[in-house]
Amino acid sequence: MKLTVCKYGDPVLRRKGAAITAVAPEIRQLIADMFETMEANHGVGLAAQQVGHALQLTVIDIRAIEDRPSTLELNGQPADPKSIMPLVLVNPVVKPVGAPVSGSEGCLSFPKLYGEIERPESVDVTATNERGEPIAFRCGGLLARCVQHEVDHLNGILFIDRMDRATKEDLKPDLEDLQAATKAALKKAKG
Ligand code: ZN
Repeated sequence: MKLTVCKYGDPVLRRKGAAITAVAPEIRQLIADMFETMEANHGVGLAAQQVGHALQLTVIDIRAIEDRPSTLELNGQPADPKSIMPLVLVNPVVKPVGAPVSGSEGCLSFPKLYGEIERPESVDVTATNERGEPIAFRCGGLLARCVQHEVDHLNGILFIDRMDRATKEDLKPDLEDLQAATKAALKKAKG
């Protein structure tokens, strides 16, 4: 089932996700719904907060992006990033490896807004998958950027928090409009 994506101004986006102790059937259903929602919105990553659940859960699929390369290492050996797609990360932990690099980012919770964000080029990721099995990998490029963006969501951190002041200042009117529209819609939904 396709879910509604929570937009900037919805307080759930600022909530730190609770750890998932077991991938119960309702979590498996949520994962399937998150993939459907992400694909319908042409996203490459989606965090549980973005569909209204403050949980340590994110889904990623970068296969549709051809012009921004990714790297992957499994057990220290180079591997095809596509081999781990679609990717489910439950309770992920990310450790930066490379030096920060700048790159363009957008977010389904911020329609049509983009900014240059600095993040470490590579990261080590540990998590469990949708079957509750431990997974570990090192990634770089677009995949590393995407993982870091999503793991930020799981901790209530948004990409605008990592923009430099000039970029955020440029986007300020749009951000204020989006926040106001979201708050109005939430108020209306509550009646
Ligand atoms: Zn996002």
